[in-house]
Amino acid sequence: MSRPNPLSTSGIDVSFEFFPPKTERMEENLWRAIERLAPLGPSFVSVTYGAGGSTRERTHQTIDRILKETKLTPAAHLTCVDATKDEVDAVVRQYWETGVRHFVALRGDSQAGVGGEYVAHKDGYRNAVELVAGLKAFADFEISVAAYPEKHPESPDFATDIDLLKRKVDNGATRAITQFFFDNDTFERYVERVRRAGIYIPIVPGIVPIHDFTKVARFSKATGASIPAWLAARFEGLDDDEQTRSHVAAAVCADQVLDLQKRGISDFHFYTMNRADLVYSICHILGLRAGETPAADTNEGEAAAA
Ligand code: FAD
Repeated sequence: MSRPNPLSTSGIDVSFEFFPPKTERMEENLWRAIERLAPLGPSFVSVTYGAGGSTRERTHQTIDRILKETKLTPAAHLTCVDATKDEVDAVVRQYWETGVRHFVALRGDSQAGVGGEYVAHKDGYRNAVELVAGLKAFADFEISVAAYPEKHPESPDFATDIDLLKRKVDNGATRAITQFFFDNDTFERYVERVRRAGIYIPIVPGIVPIHDFTKVARFSKATGASIPAWLAARFEGLDDDEQTRSHVAAAVCADQVLDLQKRGISDFHFYTMNRADLVYSICHILGLRAGETPAADTNEGEAAAA
């Protein structure tokens, strides 16, 4: 499990999410971001998992490099998409052998893209509930799962959505990381609902710094995250003014996080988009200072099926 960050003067803990690079230039960019953010002492850094063999291999390579070249604790995202249980279990075993002890366990989206109808592989894990159980059967991993303050677009209602989260927790999930959101009241109401359902694991807000408002707005539509009118107004007229946009983005994001902190939240997961600039500024405002990265947590647990 993560522990308090000794580099934080405010009791705040952060984690950072990256995506695996597709090209050499993207790889350089990713490593610049990791090197800039690592000294802030994140409790873990996660790497997303896509569709297709080569993308998946890149996740593994990125995690491997983080383990070999940094003192950071990596968390590997893993999905059920287009794979049999045996194939997923083989990936888990490979990760176990390289020293990975934390997964972000997800169902994933339809191969047709976010919003397309999801069809589970006939011999695969059908959803994140089953994947969490599969991981726990292998070893006592730390397991983070996804949660949706505005409910998952495929969920008919909140009760169904939260029941699914409860089943992930019953199977061994230790933390939920939320889809991004911009209305903190929505998040607070969601956490109340979750607690009423008897779910007591940390619900860590997923925070997205807005590098590109148009892109975030497009992605919001597909994921069911709403864009408040006040937020759209802040970015109005800035499409061709990158510098002002980035100041506005830092202010908006810092406001959101500081307000959540006032509401008692101390852990934040940043969707970095492999860019360090905004995230670094926001973390500075939150009281995080660069120092020597604490050594990675070691979990010496045995693999049940290793
Ligand atoms: P699940 O928890 O399995 O379920 C999602 C929804 O499916 C449910 O809300 C429900 O509507 C429906 N459902 C599933 N099973 C049942 C059932 N038995 N009965 C009824 N309804 C059911 N995607 C990637 O491809 N790669 C990543 O690396 C990645 N990282 C992410 C990280 C975070 C923090 C988050 C929030 C999302 C991430 N995603 C990623 C996106 C995620 O894969 C999608 O949101 C996906 O649509 C749902 O995944 P899940 O794990 O929440 O699914």
